[in-house]
Amino acid sequence: MPIPLVDLRAQYDGLRDEIIAAIDECISSTQLLLGPNMTAFEEEFAQFCDAKHGVGVASGTDALQLALEAVGVGPGDEVITVSYTFIATLEAIAHLGADPVLVDIDPRTYCIDPNQVADAVTPRTKAIVPVHLYGQTADMDPICEIAEAHGLAVVEDACQAQGASYKGQRAGSLGDAACFSFYFSKNLGAYGDGGLVTTNRPDVAEQVRQLRHHGHDSKYMHVRLGYNSRLDEIQAAILRIKLRHLERWNARRQELAALYTELLSGLVETPYVADYAEHVFHLYTLRTPDRDGLAAALRDAGIGCAMHYCRPAHWQPACEQFGYQRGDFPHIGAAAEEVLQLPIYPELTEHQVHQVASVVESHVKSRARPAAFAAQQAASASAACVP
Ligand SMILES: *Cc1c(COP(=O)(O)O)cnc(C)c1O
Repeated sequence: MPIPLVDLRAQYDGLRDEIIAAIDECISSTQLLLGPNMTAFEEEFAQFCDAKHGVGVASGTDALQLALEAVGVGPGDEVITVSYTFIATLEAIAHLGADPVLVDIDPRTYCIDPNQVADAVTPRTKAIVPVHLYGQTADMDPICEIAEAHGLAVVEDACQAQGASYKGQRAGSLGDAACFSFYFSKNLGAYGDGGLVTTNRPDVAEQVRQLRHHGHDSKYMHVRLGYNSRLDEIQAAILRIKLRHLERWNARRQELAALYTELLSGLVETPYVADYAEHVFHLYTLRTPDRDGLAAALRDAGIGCAMHYCRPAHWQPACEQFGYQRGDFPHIGAAAEEVLQLPIYPELTEHQVHQVASVVESHVKSRARPAAFAAQQAASASAACVP
C-alpha cells in the first residue's frame, strides 16, 4: 500500500458528520462573514496560543502582510528574515514596499540565526520575522533582545508551528504579533484557505481588524485603505471543530517522530530538537548527502516525500530583485541539497513508520555497495527537486 506524505482523508472520515452539520448550520444562518464562528474561533485559538487577541484573516500570507503593516512596516523600511522559508514570508514584506534583508539559518534547527540578525540591523530596520520552521520555534530570546535594543517589532511566522512552544511558552505569544496559516495541510488546516494573527497588543489587534475589512471602523466609515481578507464563517466553524483535537494530534506527531528518530538514527541525520523547544513536527525533516537517491528509492516504494526547501527564496526568479546571489547563505545552500521530509500525520500508523524506515535503511545499506550505488545515481537523476 502506498504511503502518502499527508493523508487528509483519514482525518476527515473521523470528523465528517460534525463538519457537515457545522457547514449546514453556517449556510442556513446566512451569516457567512464576520459572524459568530469567526469571533469564537479567534478567542479559542488566541487562548490556545496564550495570546490576548486573535484576528482571523483569509490566509497565512495575509496574516503576515497585515501584521507587518499593523506594526508600522511600510515603504523604504527593512525587515530581517530568512530565505529558508516559503516565499510568502518575503511577499508580505515586499508588497508593503519594504525590503527583505535576508540572513542565514542555524543549520541544526533550520531557523533564523540570531547572531546574524544582530549584524543585519541598520537605521532602516523596522522589524524581524523569525520563521518557526517545520514545527519548531526560532531561538526567540536573543531575537527579542536585539529587537528591544533597537526598537524593532518582532512578527513571528508561526504558520508551521501551531502548538509549538519556546521555553514553555506557545508560539503566537512570543513577539509583537504572530501569523498562522490554516492551509489545508498545516497541523490545523481548514478545507480551503484561512489565517489568523495573534498578539498581546490591543493596538495591533485593532489595526489588523480594520485592515482585513477595508479599513472599516464603524458603519459607513473607512478610516484607512485596507484589504478584503476575512476568515469566512464556514472555515472558522470547521477550524473550531478541529482545534479541539489539535493538542492530541500534535502529541501523536511527536510520538511518530520519536519512532522515526529511533529507527533512523545512525542511517541519516535525524531532526534536532533544541533544549528550548517543544517541536510539533509539522514536517519530519531528515538530512543526508544522498538526498536525491533516497527520494527516488522512497518514490519507487510508493512512499511520499518532499524537499522543503530545495529551492530557497533567494534562488527563485521572483526574488532576483532583492539582489542576493545563489551562493549567499552557505547553511541554507547546504540544507537545500540535503533535506528530505517523510510522511507524517496523526493518522499514520507505527507499522507505516516501520515500513518507511525500512526503505530508508535498505537504501542506505545498499548505497554502501558500489554496483547498487551506481544504479541509484542513475535513478536519482529523475528525482531531482520538483517544486
Ligand atoms: C504556509 C506558510 C505560509 C503561507 O500561508 P498561506 O495560508 O498558504 O498563505 C507562510 N509562511 C510559512 C512558513 C508557511 O509554511
